[in-house]
Amino acid sequence: MAAQAANSKLLEVSGLTRHFHLGGGFLGRKAETVYAVDGISFDLGEGETLGLVGESGCGKSTAGKTILRLLTPTSGTIKLRGRDISALAKAELRPFRRDMQVIFQDPYSSLNPQMTAGDIVAEPMLNFAIAGASDRRRRAAELFQRVGLRQEAMAKYPHEFSGGQRQRLGIARALASGPSLIVCDEPVSALDVSVQAQIINLLIDLQRQMGLSYLFIAHDLAVVQHISQRVAVMYLGKIVEIAQTDALFAEPLHPYTEALLASVPAPDPRVKKSRKLLTGDVPSPIRPPPGCRFHTRCPYAEARCKVEEPVLEAKRDGHLVACHLR
Ligand code: SF4
Repeated sequence: MAAQAANSKLLEVSGLTRHFHLGGGFLGRKAETVYAVDGISFDLGEGETLGLVGESGCGKSTAGKTILRLLTPTSGTIKLRGRDISALAKAELRPFRRDMQVIFQDPYSSLNPQMTAGDIVAEPMLNFAIAGASDRRRRAAELFQRVGLRQEAMAKYPHEFSGGQRQRLGIARALASGPSLIVCDEPVSALDVSVQAQIINLLIDLQRQMGLSYLFIAHDLAVVQHISQRVAVMYLGKIVEIAQTDALFAEPLHPYTEALLASVPAPDPRVKKSRKLLTGDVPSPIRPPPGCRFHTRCPYAEARCKVEEPVLEAKRDGHLVACHLR
């Protein structure tokens, strides 16, 4: 069941999987499958931010890349404004690429060091034939202003910017094609804490001004809580809980979400937390545990959890959970 977004739907993801097949044969190795994303469903409304959280290796970045069609889905559907883009060929996909952009964790590695900042921001307009040369320049200058960069900086090269400025540049480039959907893939995790807040506030301001929708992928729960209207929690390729941000942080229903929140340091260290902490490592996505994938780490696991996979279903209004006991 897909969690319903509050606003009209921009993005609808249904039963999406992305598996990677590792070829066998070398030194007698068996062919294996990595179940990186294994059947996720959710909606994203116009102007909404959905946080996607989970430990490293849970599949959240692969999910983001697959939704953008940077990776081809193994199965399932991705609809953008009601149009199924999951199986479109490269040429058919082109008009939709303009409407879906990405902001990466490490802006430096995603910026061409030999191009000036002005050319970097103008490049998507050139690629999508959005405007003539002088108009591109004018629009790029406007984008510099929008993201808080001085227009003189258009002549600089990426290495001349600080980390925070480079992320502003990455945001300006993402905005250049006029997208509705931006996948933000750990956009502040490489930045100093003081700069993180500036970039998050910039993203919030841009969303208000331009009506953008964000799929905000991050492992930092405080950041996700600040920017998201709803949050989806991923574990080993599956969404295990999805809810309004306030409800999820006040009363998480899934034991994994509960443990993730317990691992966030309390503002007052004298306050003891009653929630159970997460122990052990995430199992391999090559051989995910049968039944509930979290059963090997779950303090509440019962016999049934080892054989029967729980379904993601509404336990309260707009609050979906995949757990036999909640
Ligand atoms: Fe834990 Fe069982 Fe719920 Fe899975 S289904 S989270 S193992 S109680």
